[in-house]
Amino acid sequence: MGKKAPKAEAIRLSTLLRMTLGEDRFPIDVALLAKEISKTNPDPIDKVVGAELPGFEGMLRPHSKRPAWHIVYYDDPRYEGRNRFTMAHELGHYQLHRPVLTELNYKSGVLENGGLFQCKPMHMDEWKEADKQREEEADTFASFLLMPIDDYRAQVSGHDMSVELLSHVTDRYGVSLTAAARKWIDFTESRAAMVVSRDGFALWGRASKSAYKSGIFVRSGMALPELVASEIEGSSNGFLSEQPMERQKGVWSFSRGSEPLQELTLRSEFLDVSISILQFQRTHDFATDTEPDDWDAVDQLKKNSR
Ligand SMILES: [Zn+2]
Repeated sequence: MGKKAPKAEAIRLSTLLRMTLGEDRFPIDVALLAKEISKTNPDPIDKVVGAELPGFEGMLRPHSKRPAWHIVYYDDPRYEGRNRFTMAHELGHYQLHRPVLTELNYKSGVLENGGLFQCKPMHMDEWKEADKQREEEADTFASFLLMPIDDYRAQVSGHDMSVELLSHVTDRYGVSLTAAARKWIDFTESRAAMVVSRDGFALWGRASKSAYKSGIFVRSGMALPELVASEIEGSSNGFLSEQPMERQKGVWSFSRGSEPLQELTLRSEFLDVSISILQFQRTHDFATDTEPDDWDAVDQLKKNSR
């Protein structure tokens, strides 16, 4: 099949949903969408099912006896948002990467060789290079399908990020807080960053384009400020504060020094991580700004891979 671009394909399907369902399209029913859009293909998706998949987040699996596919996702009822993202990711593999199967693939009665897509959680550094690109494409597809940027922008436009606003977007799109925050960082014009940490050290993070331009760069392995780490340590599950906390200059430091900021931190005991969303002041006085030619979400992750 022709190579499709993940963003364009997600936007195409999203537009289709808007035309047929209008405002009621969120959160997106990925299972229904997968069956509807594939039913006239020679190899439709005829089952979307949750299961125990130790070590995997999801699979796109060819049927053994006839041209068809199943989406299987690791069903954890505590994380409905993650389940939806996994289903959308597998649908991404189906739309973007699968070999189209026909009766010819089943001449002997069983499938001789078809593609099996087995997907792990986001540990990009464990993937082989070719797999990495494929997995990133499926994630991009899922993100753009579940959270169309125009709609997301309309939800948050003119507001600072707050607990309330984050809850609103996670409810609207039926996604995890991590996925929602990550998406926001990717398109917001404000200077913002997110840091996902464990035991006081950053696992990964990313800065918005304008933050990156002003010298904000989150390195994996970076130590959290002691003050922040001890507050996380002393907290229980959930947000440390309802409103973003004011942090003085000197608490958080990045490559061009320290500046005051607003911080919203969530501790997730289930996931054993903390997520900090940092919002910097709009104006800043760094005189040496240059247009970065390397701002790219993927680049930031790659450079940070341990
Ligand atoms: Zn995958």
